[in-house]
Amino acid sequence: MTALPTSLPKVLAIDDSELIHRLLRVRLQYEQIELHGAVEAREGLRMAKTLVPDVILLDIEMDGMDGFEVLQSLKADLDLQDIPVIFISATASMEDRVRALDLGAVDFVAKPFEVVELKARVRSALRVQHLVKMLAQKAQVDGLTGLWNRTYFDRRLGQEFAEERRHPRGLSLVMCDVDGFKRLNDECGHPFGDLVLERLSKILQSGRTSDIACRYGGEEFGIILPNTAGDEAIEVAERYRAAFEQETWPGAPGRVITASFGIADLSSLAGAQGPEDLVVAADAALYRAKVNGRNRIECAPSHRPAH
Ligand code: GH3
Ligand code: MG
Ligand code: MG
Ligand code: MG
Repeated sequence: MTALPTSLPKVLAIDDSELIHRLLRVRLQYEQIELHGAVEAREGLRMAKTLVPDVILLDIEMDGMDGFEVLQSLKADLDLQDIPVIFISATASMEDRVRALDLGAVDFVAKPFEVVELKARVRSALRVQHLVKMLAQKAQVDGLTGLWNRTYFDRRLGQEFAEERRHPRGLSLVMCDVDGFKRLNDECGHPFGDLVLERLSKILQSGRTSDIACRYGGEEFGIILPNTAGDEAIEVAERYRAAFEQETWPGAPGRVITASFGIADLSSLAGAQGPEDLVVAADAALYRAKVNGRNRIECAPSHRPAH
């Protein structure tokens, strides 16, 4: 899981007046922000795309593309649509203000502005933005284990699949399922079952930082392994399997708890059309691991089992 960035929040000012930029630079220099400026709308949009700032200050009256058009472009871009935009304008009528807010601007400041007020409004927008980011991240994390959840898994696997198609570097998926978990819950109680899931999650998170461990649902986990193919994926799964098997359980002394693993390696999967084919193949391999005795690893066709 990635934490929220600890660097200074970025503020991008898009305004065709050099004077405004100078004023902002001087008056915001002691604020805990990283200020960027663009004197032209298209340049501003380009900068927004590369910087992904936390707040955008946007002038309405600019030659060529005006602030409303810039705002519409921002709102049409999935990566940028959640960035709060504060309009700053010298001439805006009431209609302009209403239109700006209706288009999705969060605030409006009239020029010439009181710097104290502008700072307060920027701070307020940053606070909201921080909460929005935190909520967005929470919505992708599983509450019990702290792993990425199913929503994130689906999205990320789609991205990695597309990336692999553009630049093949190897992509494998490991599906993992605790063996006999229902009985474990029945015999040792649900809180113990939860503990088992938490411990297993720690193990699944202990790999390379590029590995993406997710709770797929219940006692099933999906680990996306970018830049990993074939035998290397088997080694990873074998490490997880062995580490889990060796755990000791104070709540159930002497008990050995195990998990089964199914691996699909995209490079050896003929005719895979989309990420779901990778899931189906890994799932089928996992099913074979169950049928063949559990506590073992099976691979989608073309690689030999390791255990
Ligand atoms: P197999 O070896 O074939 O995988 O058997 P199993 O019992 O593990 O498989 P099954 O899918 O039948 O049972 C999964 C159980 O996991 C059912 C459900 O009660 C339990 N479970 C799902 N989510 C949680 C959870 O968050 N906490 C706990 N304690 N149990 C859960
Ligand atoms: Mg202007
Ligand atoms: Mg299951
Ligand atoms: Mg199970």
